[in-house]
Amino acid sequence: MTASHHLTCLACAATNRVPADRLGDGPKCAACGAALLDPVPRDVDPDTLRKAERTDTLPLVVDFWAPWCGPCRVMGPEFAKAAQALHGQARFAKIDTQTHGAVSQRYGIRGIPLLIRFRNGQEEARLTGARPAAEIARFASEPARTQA
Ligand SMILES: [Zn+2]
Repeated sequence: MTASHHLTCLACAATNRVPADRLGDGPKCAACGAALLDPVPRDVDPDTLRKAERTDTLPLVVDFWAPWCGPCRVMGPEFAKAAQALHGQARFAKIDTQTHGAVSQRYGIRGIPLLIRFRNGQEEARLTGARPAAEIARFASEPARTQA
């Protein structure tokens, strides 16, 4: 097991190294001072997401959504509840696919809402459609896949 985690700051995209036993201590980005583990989902841009998905060792669950999408708006508060429940164990981010149109093609997205879980430089799993908080939390806390 690694003794420390690599976490990309979702505010400034700097890579931070955080000892595993300090995840619960409210670690902050060394570059900009933003909280690395928010109990609320953070909006990210495509560049920051790209870096985080390559670097991060803690699960990063990304909600691909758009303002015009009714089910996305319904799921928003559920996603926030899951983020609170798993504070310190996984990170939750949102990306607006209307503002950032290129992500739909990049991730091969056919419908939203869509959750993608990234960890250790790879996409681990997807969950489509609006889901309740408990289901989102379960998805976020699935153990890492072992390398084949
Ligand atoms: Zn930062």
